[in-house]
Parts: sequence; structure tokens; C-alpha cells
Amino acid sequence: MSELRQNLVTKEWYVIATGRARRPDDFVRRKPRPRLPRRSSRCPFCAGNESLTPPEVGRIPADGKWQVRVVPNKFSAFSPEGPADRHVDGLYRWAAGVGVHEVIVETPRHDLIPSQISLEQLRLIMRMYLERYAAALEDNRVQLIILFKNYGEAAGTSLIHPHSQLMATPLVPTHIRYRIEEARRYYDEVGRCVFCDSLSIEVEEKERVVWENDGFLVFSPYACGAPYEVWIMPKRHIPCFSMTTQKELDQLAETLFVVHRKMHALLNDPDFNYVVRVTPKDERYGHAFHWYIKYMPRLTKQAGFELGTGMYVNTTLPEDNARYLREVKVPVS
Ligand SMILES: [Zn+2]
Ligand SMILES: [Zn+2]
Repeated sequence: MSELRQNLVTKEWYVIATGRARRPDDFVRRKPRPRLPRRSSRCPFCAGNESLTPPEVGRIPADGKWQVRVVPNKFSAFSPEGPADRHVDGLYRWAAGVGVHEVIVETPRHDLIPSQISLEQLRLIMRMYLERYAAALEDNRVQLIILFKNYGEAAGTSLIHPHSQLMATPLVPTHIRYRIEEARRYYDEVGRCVFCDSLSIEVEEKERVVWENDGFLVFSPYACGAPYEVWIMPKRHIPCFSMTTQKELDQLAETLFVVHRKMHALLNDPDFNYVVRVTPKDERYGHAFHWYIKYMPRLTKQAGFELGTGMYVNTTLPEDNARYLREVKVPVS
């Protein structure tokens, strides 16, 4: 029989329907990725093609050849200029589309897949995430900042060069507001952060834990909508991404290094998205919220049921997924 499970943090319900036993083999990527050159003359993110992008807003190192580079998105969804005006038009509301939209170019190399990026490079990328996050916080029009990576066509990207994105919006979308309210309600009721509590449960029950180091826990959420979805959560209570220490950033880099390799080993370099889920700016000193990364291989598609109900059907059991991922041994450096 299938099972409906509610996520403790988001309060969302998921259908866990493992009618036919699914093994990792059922999800392994079969389509080979194209062979890529180290450098492409047409790619705006390749070293040597810097003139093809808008002027850079961040780089590591500061001088000489760059290792990580940040540029405004040429096709930005938000305008960097102008006030964050809101308007009332009868019963309708609208707001100026101002905000930040940046591309974090993760390496000068065109051809690296996520599991080939070195630990040292991931450390630089995480450092850049923090730097740009802190810069976006300074923009007083910004309410919510998200960092994310789309990898592969099923994740919604056609741009091959390794990159992630930062977007900052002038308002807080409804589903984020909803989970903030739920987290606050939980804090009011039990006096603890719901994220810290879910960490305790996972550490105690062990069966959904995939991997951990001193700073981070990787686990398959008890209730989630996608096969092999994992959450990467700081063990310390950190409400806002900007409060992450340099040491924790290094631990995060190590965690991503391992997760990329485990996913590759088990599912053959799957398409995926990850999103750094953060606290909106005005809430960042609270006790109720805690940032984390949702890492989701793109192995299935949404259909009418998902659209109609907002409930996702997961054809795998999170406990099984965690076990498969846990058992894949990969190097940690
Ligand atoms: Zn390139
Ligand atoms: Zn917490």
C-alpha cells in the first residue's frame, strides 16, 4: 500500500508509492553526455572570453588568472536599477521587477562535470557564494536571496559551462512565507528550531542518513517528492547563510564534493538542481529558521496529479535511497 508522508519542516505532503520495487538501476542516466572541449570560443564563461559578458562583479583571486568569476546575468529576470515600488491597481497588486541576478562561473574550464570539480575549487565557489550573498544583503530593496545550480537539460539549463546563480527578489514568495510561518509556529509551540529537531531525529534514527562531517548532515528527508533527493543541513543552528563561518564553508565544500561523487557513482552523472534554502532578510536573526540545501536529481517528471494537487509522488522509499547512497564509497578529497 502507498503511504502519505508529511514533511516536518515544510508541512507538505508526499505520496510514497513504491508499488513496483525500483532500484537505482531504474534511474541511471543512459544518454551519454556530449564530449566537450576544455575551452569553447563561443562560450561567454570560458577563460579568454571575458569580453562576452557584462563587467564582472566578483572574482577569485583578485588579480591574475581568475578561478571563480561572477557576472550579472545578461538576460536578467530582474533589473538592477530603480526603486522596489509596489503598486495597488484596484484589486490587483504589482511590484517593480528589481533585484539581483548573477551568474557564478565555477571554473575557467568548460568541460568539467560536477563530480570532476576539485575540493579546492569547491571551497573557492562556496567562498564566492558567501561573498555575493553578503553583497546582496546590503541592497535594501532585497527581501529574499536564493543560490542555486541547474545541471543538465532536465534541470532546466542549456548552458554547459559549470555555473550557479544568485537571485535576489524584492518580495517573499508565498511558499517561503508559508514555511516561515510554520517554523515560527513550531518554535512557539515547542521552543526549538524545527530544523534542529529534524537533525536530531535523523541522527538518532540513522536510516535516512547518507553522510556527515563535523559541520553538515546529508540525509534523505522522511517525506520528499523526488527519488534520491537529499538535504544538506548545517549541524549548528545558522539562521542566515551569511552567518556561516569560513570553516563551515570548507566543510560544506567537502560535503558537496562527496554528494556530487555519490550521485555520479550511483546514477551516472544525473541532471540535478540544488537550492540553498535561506531565511528572508527580515527574519535572519530569528531562532526559528535554519538554512539548508535541497539537492534534487532530476529523474522523474511532474504530471497532472502533481499539478492538480501540489503533492508529489515519489516512487522510491527515502530509507532505501539513503542506504544506496550511503553504501557508495567515494573519496573525501
Ligand atoms: Zn565555457
Ligand atoms: Zn536550527
